[in-house]
Amino acid sequence: MIHDEILAWLCETDPARLVELWRNADETRRRHVGDEVHLRGLVEISNHCTRFCGYCGLRAGNRRIERYRMSKDEIFAAACRAVDLGYGTIVLQSGEDPDITVAWMDRLIRRVKAETPLAVTLSLGERTPDELAAWRAAGADRYLLKFETSNPRLYAQIHPPRAGQSHDRMSLLTVLRDLGYEVGSGAMVGIPGQTHDDLARDIGLFRLLDLDMVGVGPYVPHPDTPLGRNVATTETPDADIHIPDAGDQVPHSELMTCKVVALTRLVCPWANIPATTALATTAGESGRLRALARGANVVMPNLTPPAYRRLYAIYPGKDCPDETAEACADGLARQIASIGRRLGLGRGDSRNYNRRLHACDPSAIRPCSPDDTRATMD
Ligand code: SAM
Ligand code: SF4
Repeated sequence: MIHDEILAWLCETDPARLVELWRNADETRRRHVGDEVHLRGLVEISNHCTRFCGYCGLRAGNRRIERYRMSKDEIFAAACRAVDLGYGTIVLQSGEDPDITVAWMDRLIRRVKAETPLAVTLSLGERTPDELAAWRAAGADRYLLKFETSNPRLYAQIHPPRAGQSHDRMSLLTVLRDLGYEVGSGAMVGIPGQTHDDLARDIGLFRLLDLDMVGVGPYVPHPDTPLGRNVATTETPDADIHIPDAGDQVPHSELMTCKVVALTRLVCPWANIPATTALATTAGESGRLRALARGANVVMPNLTPPAYRRLYAIYPGKDCPDETAEACADGLARQIASIGRRLGLGRGDSRNYNRRLHACDPSAIRPCSPDDTRATMD
C-alpha cells in the first residue's frame, strides 16, 4: 500500500467504502494473528518525569499532580496479580524518572523473571543504550517507545529534547531492535498541527521500522498542559507552544483512530496492535471493541493499585480509575467473548518478532531502507 492510498483512506468519508476497510483489516488480522485477544497487565510504576512533553499531564512542569513511585514489592505484587488473572505479560510503564536507576530496575526484572512465567515489557521513556542493554540482559522482553509523530518540526514543538541528549526516539528504536527486544512504537492521532499527510507518513513509518507492536490512540487534550490549553505560557522555559492552524488538521476522533488501526493492520499484518486505553477513554468500551473488530488484537487492563492509578493522570478521564484489577478483567473478558473472540493464552509474543528472529533472509532481519516507500499488504 503506497502513501497516496493510505492518505486516500484517511480522507475517506463514505461509510460503505469504510466498511470495506474494516472488513479487510479484520480479515488480515484473523489470517495473520488469529482470533486471540492478548491481555497485558499494565502497571504504572512511577509518575515522576523530567521531561516537558507539551501534551502529557505527567510533564515536569505540572505541579498540580501528587507524585508517587511504587516500591519493588508493590510492583512484584502486581506481577503476581497478573499471573493470578491468567495474563502472560506485564507492562511496566513510567515517566522518565531518574530514580528508576539501572540497578533498581535490574533487580526488579530479575525477580519477576525468576519467580513468574511473565513476559516483561518496559515503557520507561528515553533511556541510555547502556541502560536498555542492562535491562535486556536482566530478562526484559519488550520495549514500547512511541515516536508520537513522524513530522520532525511538529515533534520538536511538542516534545522538547533533553539538554545534551545525543539519542532520540528514532535512534533508540534501532538500539532496541539490535539488543533483541520486541520493539513497539506508535503515534497519537489528532495532535494540534498534525495533517493527514503527516499521519499517512506515520503509518508508512510503522512499516519501514518493521515494528513488532504498534500503539495508536487519539490525542486527548489535558487542560494542565501547554498543548491542551494551546496557549503560550511562561510556566516553564520550554512551554511556549504556538501550533499554527494545520489547515488540513486531523481530528482526534474515534473514527480517525480506527482508520489508523485498520491501515496499520494492513501494512504491519503480523504485529501486535492494542485497542488503546486512550481510545477506550474517549470512545468508551464500545470504541475499544470496534478497534478490536477493525484490526486490533491486544488490550492492556490496568493493574496499578487504584490509589496510584488516579495519580497517573496522563490525560483527563482515563478509564475505570477506581475499578479493581479483578473487576476490570471480568468486564473485559465478557466484552471480548461478546464479539466472538477469545482470550489469548501464554505470553502472546509478536508474530512479527518471531518471523524476524527465524528468518533466513537477512533483509527480513533489518528494517527496510527509508527509500522503500512501498509497503506490502501481505
Ligand atoms: N514516559 C514514557 C514515554 O513517554 O514513552 C511512557 C509513559 S507516556 C505517559 C506513554 C504514552 O502516553 C506516550 O507515548 C503518549 O503517546 C501517551 N500520551 C501522553 N499524553 C497524552 C495525551 N494527552 N493524549 C494521548 N496520549 C498521550
Ligand atoms: Fe514524561 Fe512520557 Fe509524559 Fe513525556 S509522555 S511527559 S516522557 S511521561
